[in-house]
Amino acid sequence: RDKAEYMTSLFRSVLGFPKEGINFRDFMPILEDAKGLQILLEGLEKALPVPADSFDSVAGLEARGFLFGPALAARLGKGFIAVRKAGKLPPPVIGEDYTLEYGQARVEVESDAVSSGERVLIVDDLIATGGTAKAAADLIRKCGGTIAGFSFVMQLEGLDGIDSLGPYPTSTLVSMP
Ligand code: 5GP
Repeated sequence: RDKAEYMTSLFRSVLGFPKEGINFRDFMPILEDAKGLQILLEGLEKALPVPADSFDSVAGLEARGFLFGPALAARLGKGFIAVRKAGKLPPPVIGEDYTLEYGQARVEVESDAVSSGERVLIVDDLIATGGTAKAAADLIRKCGGTIAGFSFVMQLEGLDGIDSLGPYPTSTLVSMP
């Protein structure tokens, strides 16, 4: 409880970024704070949505999922899969297109990153509408993997992001409007 409050207090809210009308929740101060970083990794490990022996690897979403996903994976003795934005990874890659509020986007993994039947936990800093996490899950499935669950640091309330992912075990450490 205290730890969740401490972590919540470290999030910095920036009104009008990246555009007008958005209240951006900045997660970097958690990483900059030695105690915050410990609490973050311990918290994610304790709040895993499924037991650690029921998945094989951790997939993180570019860019903020890359900042703690590999550390979490290492603590759990798993490997890490980088889900990147289009055009960043060398070929061969497998991609998944998805629709954003304005326009289209695409996520990619290296084509041998996921083996057939591999059980994957997907992590990111924040879930809003769930569109990004859903695209990552669709991509992992396209590669032959299965989704064990999702772990987020922060959930934005009132957007039904978690419901939009489907019936998967999901954990979030803190929640904000
Ligand atoms: P969604 O696809 O769920 O609508 O948006 C979540 C994605 O956008 C995540 O990859 C997340 O990092 C990023 N994002 C959206 N809004 C915010 C925000 O307020 N703060 C942070 N740190 N990331 C955000």
